Amino acid sequence: MGDADCLFCGIVERRIPAEIVHEDPAVVAFKDIHPQAPTHLLFVPRTHLSGPGQLTGPQASVAQDLLGAATRTAERFGLDRSGYRLVLNQGRDGGQTVGHLHVHLLGGRPLGWPPG
Ligand code: 5GP
Ligand code: ZN
Repeated sequence: MGDADCLFCGIVERRIPAEIVHEDPAVVAFKDIHPQAPTHLLFVPRTHLSGPGQLTGPQASVAQDLLGAATRTAERFGLDRSGYRLVLNQGRDGGQTVGHLHVHLLGGRPLGWPPG
């Protein structure tokens, strides 16, 4: 069971609606509610981890689950030829606003670098 106060646990458990685009035993992916690119998806582990800072030790395989799901979904959305960006924000200065680990997949337009 996830954290009752966690937004993304709510989406994983279907208590909170979202446009889900991918599901597997480890990962759920859905459309970002405020898309920053034509394709903007979020990949979250079913298990509650607070952010990328927890992808250590026994949790390290979760990174593989998330990145594998994200790259396969990028291909399914036709982004592998044009390219795309995967982003993990950690903590305040990283711009993290939801305290459940998530990978952003952004694509469908040229993306500026460096980020703000
Ligand atoms: P962060 O800033 O923590 O890296 O990213 C959190 C992302 O979650 C933001 O891009 C934000 O638009 C998205 N988000 C926030 N609340 C919701 C929601 O209720 N549903 C969905 N689908 N996305 C959300
Ligand atoms: Zn959670």
